This record gives sequence, C-alpha cells and structure tokens, in this order.
Amino acid sequence: MVDCKELADLIFPEVKDISYYEKKYPIRKLPEGAIVTRYAPSPTGLMHIGGLYQSLISKKISQQTKGIFFLRIEDTDKKREIENGINEIIQSLKEYEIEVDEGMISETESIGNYGPYKQSLRKEIYQAYAKHLIQQRKAYPCFCTPEELDEIRAKQESAGIRPGYYGVWAKDRNLSIQEAIDRIKKGDPYIIRFKSPGREDKKIKHKDIIKGNVEFPENDQDIVIIKADGLPTYHFAHIVDDHLMGTTHVIRGDEWLSSVPLHLQLFYEMGFKAPKYAHIAPIMKNDNGNKRKLSKRKDPEAAVSYYEKEGIPADAVKEYLLNIANSNFENWRRANPDKEKEDFELELHKMSVSGALFDMIKLLDVSKIVISKMTAKEIYEKVYKWAEKFDKELQQILQDKEYSLKVLGIERGNKKPRKDISKWSDVKENIIYMYDNQFMNSNIVYPYQVINDKNVIEKILKLYIENYYDENDDKQEWFNKIKELSGKLGFAKEVKEFKANPEKYKAHVGDVSTVIRVALTGRTNTPDMYEIMKVLGKESIQKRFKKAIK
Ligand code: GLU
Repeated sequence: MVDCKELADLIFPEVKDISYYEKKYPIRKLPEGAIVTRYAPSPTGLMHIGGLYQSLISKKISQQTKGIFFLRIEDTDKKREIENGINEIIQSLKEYEIEVDEGMISETESIGNYGPYKQSLRKEIYQAYAKHLIQQRKAYPCFCTPEELDEIRAKQESAGIRPGYYGVWAKDRNLSIQEAIDRIKKGDPYIIRFKSPGREDKKIKHKDIIKGNVEFPENDQDIVIIKADGLPTYHFAHIVDDHLMGTTHVIRGDEWLSSVPLHLQLFYEMGFKAPKYAHIAPIMKNDNGNKRKLSKRKDPEAAVSYYEKEGIPADAVKEYLLNIANSNFENWRRANPDKEKEDFELELHKMSVSGALFDMIKLLDVSKIVISKMTAKEIYEKVYKWAEKFDKELQQILQDKEYSLKVLGIERGNKKPRKDISKWSDVKENIIYMYDNQFMNSNIVYPYQVINDKNVIEKILKLYIENYYDENDDKQEWFNKIKELSGKLGFAKEVKEFKANPEKYKAHVGDVSTVIRVALTGRTNTPDMYEIMKVLGKESIQKRFKKAIK
C-alpha cells in the first residue's frame, strides 16, 4: 500500500521539513498588544494612492503599539509584474517617509530576520508547507488540462450551477494515491490543489476590525496552492508568510474580504493561528453626484506620482489621508494645531466601512496649513527640489538663495503665517513679481482701483519716494507716512473720517496704499506691503515706480 508520504516525497523530494522553518522563525518577543503588520503589494503597476493609504495606516498602527511594520513583495504572478515595479513601491514609501522595520529596502536587499521578504525567493518554503499538506491528505496533485477545466466550466454554466473546482466537480480530488503517483511518473503535468473540507451550505461568521460582523458561506473550492511553475498562488503564499512572519493583523484592501472564508480555512487546516483582519474600503470620489472608486484609468490623482508632479508635499498628503482615515482627526487637529500628526492615535475600527471620499479641495486646504507651518528654509529646499524636476524657470529664479529666503519669509514664522501656497506649483505665481529681472521685463497692465488717474498716481508715487519713504522706518512709522502723504494730497488720512464725510474726499489712505501696492507688484492682492518693501529695498522700489509712471 502506498501512502501520502510517498506521494509527497515524489512531488517535493528536496524540500525541508516544516519543523526547520518553524524553528528558524521563532515567535516574536514584543510587548503585549504589539501589532505586527505589513504592506504586501504586488509589483504589477504604478503606486496607487490607495496603496499609500494602506501602508500609512499599517505603519501607524504598528508604531502606536510598538509593533513591527514590514514590506513584503508579493511577486508570484510573474506574468503581471512590471519593470521597476518593486523600486517604484520602495521609492514611494521613502518619499513619504513610511519607514519599514523589516522587509525589502531595495530591489534586492532586505532587513529583518523573517525574510526573504520577496515571495519569489521563498519558493522552497511554500513547497515545504504544501508537502506537509499533501502528507496529511489536505492537498493533492491535479492533472486537469486547461481544456478539461473549460469543459467543467461550460457544463456548470449551462446547468446554471456555481462555477469552480469543488465537490463533485473536483475531478482529481479523489484520485487514488497510486494513480497520482503513476501519472506523475508518466510525466503528466499537474498543479497542487488544497482539498477543502468546507461546505457551501454552511456559514462562517467573522468579525472584521473595520467591516464588523460579516457572514459568508464556507469555502468549498479546491483552490490551486502551487502553480505549474512551482510558485504558490497568493492565497497560499500569504498564509504561510503571515504565519512565519508573525503577522498579528492583516490590514488590506476590501477586495479581499470575500476571500476570508478561504483564508481562515487555510490557516485552520495548516494548524496556524489566524491573524486579525482589517479590510480597508477603497478611497472614493464624487463623480457628478455618483460615489465611485478612484480609478487609475480615469483619475490622475489616483497615482501617487500625481502629488509629486503637482508639488503637494508628502506631509500634506499624509495628513489628509489621516483625515479621511478617521473622521475625528479633524477635531483633534483643531484642538491641537501645533502637534505633530504622528501624535494622533489612529483607530482601525473608526475607519469608514463603505469608503471615504477623496476631496481635492480639502486636500489643498490641508496642504496650505501644512505649508504655512514650514520655515522659509524648509519651503525653499522643497520648492527648489521640485522645480529642478518640474519647472526650470522657477529653478532659475530661485538661484538667488539669499533673496529667495527673504521672499519666502514674508509673513512667515509669525503667529498668523501666510496661507497662499497649497502646492509647489503655486509658488512661481506667488513670488515671481518679487524678482526684478522678471518684474521689470514683463508687460504689466496695472490694476489700479479707486484712484486711477495717471497724473494723480504719478504724484503719489513721486512724492512718496522723495519725501516719505524711509527704509529705516518701523511698521508704524511707515504707515503714518502713508497717512501723512494721503493728507497732503487731499485724501482722507483715516477710513473713518472718509466714511463720515464722503463728500469731502475723493479717496482715503487705503486707496493711496493700493496705488503704491499696484505700482510695486502689479497686483491688488499681496502679502504685507511693509514686508514686501523691506525685501525689495529702495532701489528696486524706485525702479518699479518709474516703470509704473511710464
Ligand atoms: N498582494 C496582495 C495585493 O496586492 C496583498 C493583499 C494582502 O495584503 O494580503 O492586493
């Protein structure tokens, strides 16, 4: 009588006994309550904002509990892999400062004691566990050809029966061991299937951390665990990996929720303790009143690279993602405007069951505030780096670092910093008028307002620069001078006074200020004019007035 052991040895003659791996990867010694979790992407496409969201959440949750966050590359589907896919993932995590405690740190290198962290390098580990299942008659070789599988599917379809390889449809499930051995020896191609003990008419109950209580039919499909190329399928590989790597919580996209019955069954049949699951709903978008998933195909903002191109700082994107992850983040932020976002305690069970809405306007608002808290130096460095890649003209403008730091420092570092930059691609438009080279050589249509008579404007500017402007004035003196100038030219020195006697004046001090502002900058709306003039300096002010008068 042949037994399963013989069959298992025939299929996997070389592999080690699983006891080897069980010893090699001991149970982690971590503080109580520590969460071990992972980001486990397949390198099959550009990094999606949903991937960033998932990794940010996983990292944060592990960090909050003094656990471990690792990056595992799930590259068992060699057909779907894209070139540079792994690097792209690693670079994105780096860019967003989502640091891994273990796992892949480059295309080929990893850190941590539970590796390899790339599934294609773990082939013999999966085979050892598949062998273990075969030895227990919990897995078997299946010799069905693609044509036979098509035939089964066609029959099921025409009979209106649930498709798949299960129960009576699982043709090779009950092949005798001898028969299987003979066919292998004969050279018939095969794959390995899991022998599911489940029944479709029975239910399993599961409590997901995000989705809450869910109920599904048991799994009864004899899924493929080892493919013809010797590599495992995702289902099988992640079971083995999460077991050996000590994952306590699987935090992943909710497209996997319906696989939970299968996964729990696999954990159970392997004799492993199952992790807890938290299935994250996809990030949604409001598309003309319809809520739908952010789509790589339709929405440029679905790609992580979009934010880099637009120049939305990584910290702002992360802060916004926390906003949509936990709706109480917003209140927390309001109560703690000066705290680091890292201090916020993220809770998985507070995440949206149906998918949080992504709102670009809100993101830019968040970004404005994040940027407003940066120093001029930080902004300079980030903008420069962005401009190097995306805007050569801006890079050129920023060459004069000392001057640029002054420009970017206007209304910054004080209690109410300026909030007019939400992304690096805004910066040029926001500062370009401060640079004489650009300003003096551009054609400007000056948007004068209440006072728009050329002669009056000329008079204001000339008198001001000759008799009133003094570089050493403090802000109060500076403003008093503009008042005096206004009085001298017959305008109201105070807005109040103007309002009380509108028939007496043509305009007031504010209108005079506007003339100066427009002549200096070509704009009606700018940050604090006193600071602007300080940065420009007298010579530039004179030049600008001359240009305006011309
Ligand atoms: N490789 C799977 C994916 O990219 C991972 C799912 C999981 O985290 O378990 O969707």
